[in-house]
Amino acid sequence: MGTWDKVMSKMLKDKRLPPIILALFAFLMFLGYFSGFAYAVVVDGETIGYVKQETQAEKAIAEAKKYIKSKYGLEVSTSNEVEFKRARPKADEILGQEELKRAFLKSLDFKVAAAVIYVDGKKIAVVESRSAAEKLLDDIKSQLSGGAGNAYFKEKVEIKDADVNVGEISSESAAASMLLKSDQMTTYIVKQGDTLWDIASANNTTVDRLMALNPDVKEKAMQPGDTIILDKPKPAVTVVTKEVAEYEMPIPFDVENVEDNSLPIRVTRVKQQGVEGKKQVKAEIVKENGVEVARNILEEKIISQPVKKIVRVGTNRTLASGVFSYPVAGVLTSRFGQRWGREHTGVDLAVPIGTKVKASDGGKVIFTGRSGGYGLLVKIDHGNGYVTYYGHLSKILVKDGDRVAKGDVIALSGNTGNTTGPHLHFEVRKNGVPQNPLTYLNK
Ligand SMILES: [Zn+2]
Repeated sequence: MGTWDKVMSKMLKDKRLPPIILALFAFLMFLGYFSGFAYAVVVDGETIGYVKQETQAEKAIAEAKKYIKSKYGLEVSTSNEVEFKRARPKADEILGQEELKRAFLKSLDFKVAAAVIYVDGKKIAVVESRSAAEKLLDDIKSQLSGGAGNAYFKEKVEIKDADVNVGEISSESAAASMLLKSDQMTTYIVKQGDTLWDIASANNTTVDRLMALNPDVKEKAMQPGDTIILDKPKPAVTVVTKEVAEYEMPIPFDVENVEDNSLPIRVTRVKQQGVEGKKQVKAEIVKENGVEVARNILEEKIISQPVKKIVRVGTNRTLASGVFSYPVAGVLTSRFGQRWGREHTGVDLAVPIGTKVKASDGGKVIFTGRSGGYGLLVKIDHGNGYVTYYGHLSKILVKDGDRVAKGDVIALSGNTGNTTGPHLHFEVRKNGVPQNPLTYLNK
């Protein structure tokens, strides 16, 4: 029999167990009961598992962070609320260290310090750091301004530090696309037989807009498979540049018209050639995304004044203009040239007797009266070597020496002289030689 048995049997025999033994017994019972206790790990109010000791959880969170750093190279933090509550889970509900780490990876929001780019208060892109954001904005600035210096954004562009979920961070190229919206460009692939007009009308746009968006596309050289840009959205940012430029500009000359009665009506002669002036201009050129939107003239210095152009404008209605018009509107019944073995020295225009006959051009009446086969005849000298004849008239309305303007009514048509019916015989003579009037007439 062992010592413990002896003590126990002695104690059991003893009807008055000392209170100290009872207290010891109660304490052992208590220990046995509480050895089944553990802690529930509660993340934002939700139990994710059970652990024996709180320190295990801290260690598992640190391991989870280490894992993310090895995977993404980023230092993460978490702002979730982690609490521990006493619980009595079943033995198989208690998590080991590796299981606990996985549970945390699943349930914690691992935040990483990042930089958020805002344009006019609107969140556009998230990048990994303020310096990455600054570099990206600088690159975009130089890209949109075409490299011009002192560029600035028209919009309010801000970079704010923020803790974000790892997955929210964009790569540099994706962030650039968000700012430039280059990923929203819509394009069309040319098919056999397509014209720009077809493409424009099928896509609710205009040929002009397509040509502006695709300056390199020549319709005739368009090939199936070519890409046509249909729409280019405006970038989220507008880069403004202001450059001062100095350049020479022509100064246009004025034109002064001087009436001149020595010239036929409406005939013009340049009396003095105009000469453009020249000025030196200093201007501020404002561009948005490389496209000029304003030009502010800062200074102008005249290098040479323009010389006005002086033009003489004819007012004399009775001088020949040099262009003949039909004296009557009639049917051409006989052409110039050979006719029945004889030379026909003009053209015949059939018109009813009494039709108004108009001067074919401005000039001076040099003959009025009866003249053999012509019957009643008018001759007008146009002063430029040309004389016109109007024959077979019924009534003459001008007299010798009258000055007539082109279109003035000089007579009424008739059927006098050698005719086979009422008509106007019209001749054009150059230095006395009959010409074919049809080569001179215009209506
Ligand atoms: Zn005739």
